[in-house]
Amino acid sequence: MIHHHPTETTLAAYAAGTLPEALAIVTATHIGRCVACRRSLETLEATGGALLEGMAPVAMAGDAWDRLLVRADEPAPQPPRILNPELPAPLSRVTFGRWWPIGFGMRYRPLRAAGAAWGGLLLASPNRSLPSHGHAGRELTCILSGSFADGTGVYEAGDLSEPVTDHDQPPVVIGTEPCLCIIASEGMRLRGLLGLVQRMIGQ
Ligand SMILES: [Zn+2]
Repeated sequence: MIHHHPTETTLAAYAAGTLPEALAIVTATHIGRCVACRRSLETLEATGGALLEGMAPVAMAGDAWDRLLVRADEPAPQPPRILNPELPAPLSRVTFGRWWPIGFGMRYRPLRAAGAAWGGLLLASPNRSLPSHGHAGRELTCILSGSFADGTGVYEAGDLSEPVTDHDQPPVVIGTEPCLCIIASEGMRLRGLLGLVQRMIGQ
């Protein structure tokens, strides 16, 4: 059962295609498991379509029809290959770097994404707290397995965490399973030794 969802602002930005790639990938991972957000997305897309229909028509370029016919003959683009069959869509088709140990009981695997945000997979053992950090922009985390808790509640598989302020309490992995999550941020910078590792691996 999913209890934590992206904010309406983030979902609207996702529907409009304006989220940086790494944040869009985390949002899509949640939407793939969340019926409520899929319904909200359909409503947002219908609203966007109605807005387009209400706009004044614009004259088409003289060669628009010819260009459309040429494109209709082109083969349909193939979806990207499955690179990570152990992960759910869309993470199965995105490129990750190697796993890096980032302290005791914690590993990080950077996501190769374009745009103004960065992200990666984070795997943490039970009782480990996620790295100390501050926020300078949006940060999204979707749990893939295991669970963590912070001052705002308990997060389990499928839940999406979108903190609106700096974490008062750092998230701590609870239960007996390690916690695997996909995280993306526009501005989060890890502090201390982990911050040094983050800079070494180019994020
Ligand atoms: Zn949701």
